[in-house]
Amino acid sequence: MSNGGTLRIQQLTVGPLEENCWLLADPESGKAILVDPGDEADRLLAAVDASGCTLEAIWLTHAHFDHVGAIASIVRARAVPVWLHPLDLPLYGAAASSAARWGLQVETPTGPTEELVDGATVTLGRFTFDVWHVPGHAPGHVAFIGHGLCVSGDLLFAGSIGRTDLPLCDPRAMQDSLMRITTLDDGTRVLPGHGVTTTIGQERLSNPFLRGVARPIGAQSRR
Ligand SMILES: [Zn+2]
Ligand SMILES: [Zn+2]
Repeated sequence: MSNGGTLRIQQLTVGPLEENCWLLADPESGKAILVDPGDEADRLLAAVDASGCTLEAIWLTHAHFDHVGAIASIVRARAVPVWLHPLDLPLYGAAASSAARWGLQVETPTGPTEELVDGATVTLGRFTFDVWHVPGHAPGHVAFIGHGLCVSGDLLFAGSIGRTDLPLCDPRAMQDSLMRITTLDDGTRVLPGHGVTTTIGQERLSNPFLRGVARPIGAQSRR
């Protein structure tokens, strides 16, 4: 791991579902990426510009509409690649119709242009992150792991987990993905798709789904 300079992290909570878009910037290389730009494209682009860095890519933890709603506008303004696990393509293509069922308007996202797969890495300037495929909340859900961070999307929240009762959810896979995420060091900082940041250690102590006292909806019958 390179030293000198730090990764800058900004939480931008957007849209009616209060989704967290994460702006990660490496000032030394002048590069930035957005994870899950769900809404409020103008505000997200203003934040990128304020960072002094150039937007290089969009990384997606998964393709629910509240995580992809700003992509069409952003890609129109900055022609950046969009990274998604291919198993989430059905959700990606259905973003507009899914939002409509909530009475919300979302523009169909353009792309994706790049495939995320388990075990691959993605790079922001001098910082490389591992891609973990952690299905359950969504079939192609991934987490970005590295530099003491876990960008967890809707896998893990402070005190809770993502829903497993939506179309294409897999509660048993969710249970396995949660087990896997607990193998991270306690000090790993979790940047979730909704709500406040936490750590793996804090969640291991207090999150009922990691302590084994609660299971994802639909996974109760697992043995
Ligand atoms: Zn979701
Ligand atoms: Zn979400």
